[in-house]
Amino acid sequence: MKIITVIGARPQFIKAAALSREFAKHEHIEEIIVHTGQHFDANMSEVFFEEMEIPKPSYNLEINSLSHGAMTGRMIEGIEEILLNEKPDLLLVYGDTNSTIAGALAAKKLHIKVAHVEAGLRSFNMEMPEEINRILTDRISDYLFCPTDSAVNNLKKEGYDSLDATIVRTGDVMQDAALFYAQKSKEKSTIISQLGLQKFALATLHRAENTDSKERLSQLVEGLNEIHETICPVVLPLHPRTKAKLAAHGLELKVKLIDPVGYFDMIELLKNCALVMTDSGGLQKEAFFFRKNCVTMRDQTEWVELIENGVNVLIGADKKKLVESTRTMLNKSSNFDVNLYGNGNASVHIVTELL
Ligand code: UDP
Repeated sequence: MKIITVIGARPQFIKAAALSREFAKHEHIEEIIVHTGQHFDANMSEVFFEEMEIPKPSYNLEINSLSHGAMTGRMIEGIEEILLNEKPDLLLVYGDTNSTIAGALAAKKLHIKVAHVEAGLRSFNMEMPEEINRILTDRISDYLFCPTDSAVNNLKKEGYDSLDATIVRTGDVMQDAALFYAQKSKEKSTIISQLGLQKFALATLHRAENTDSKERLSQLVEGLNEIHETICPVVLPLHPRTKAKLAAHGLELKVKLIDPVGYFDMIELLKNCALVMTDSGGLQKEAFFFRKNCVTMRDQTEWVELIENGVNVLIGADKKKLVESTRTMLNKSSNFDVNLYGNGNASVHIVTELL
């Protein structure tokens, strides 16, 4: 079986690390990786391929730093050409980025089967580019691999039972990756001693909905600065988008800023922190995998089971709520002994299904 995997952004590299390792165990499967180039900086892309031993991409389209339309359009064109040459049996995409929808659209119009990993997730906020990408990708996919029960339910509510698509609740490939790389991170990463960290909160901030709006960004910056000064040191690997937007809006984050880190460093930060504050999708779950409470700087989340289990709270972009919830969540002892995302064998499940 010849599979083309299209990836382009940091969380997709991490998910592909888990599934590609599983593909490699099967001699009937040939995986060809296409990197769209959406994330291209060394510490947002290369480091993951090297550290996580993801197979080198056979193609790199080097498409980045364009508007949504231009980026998606050029990706469709590039991926279509590869599909015509390679004639795969299946195209596989992850998540909710422009690379995801571009890959799915290019393949579907050539009558090539499409598998969507992380299908069925919804934030119910159609202003998020990610929401548009995931809904459209789901609709044209033949295999919908859902990480959670709520993802399966979302598809059912949208009438997917009557469509000619296979829906499987596989668990989350990100859990596979976290479990696998967590065994190696301690010997591979020195970040905790390097930064001299004791008790600290780990933060990330990069979503367009937060960084594009000066009002939202300044609320969050003020809240994080206050937490760093009065509650607990905050360590924040700064996404290039946020760096540019802070400068454009004339805002200053006075926390411990570091460059984006590789996955081993990230796991060590997660293992050792007291709390996670984020607007990332992936990091909300990783906080749970590493048994940390999470304060989410968004109005909605696709990972509703975290909220239902009390390990995550949504604070929107409200400075006061951010500070108050941080205090509460730092002192809350939560129950992490619930199985929300599978047993770390989502990749096995997906490969079995495809075979
Ligand atoms: N991540 C990382 N280094 C960083 C920031 C994030 O390795 O400096 C990882 C993080 O652990 C998670 C993934 O990148 O696995 C999430 O990526 P991001 O926040 O960019 O995207 P999202 O999950 O929101 O789509």
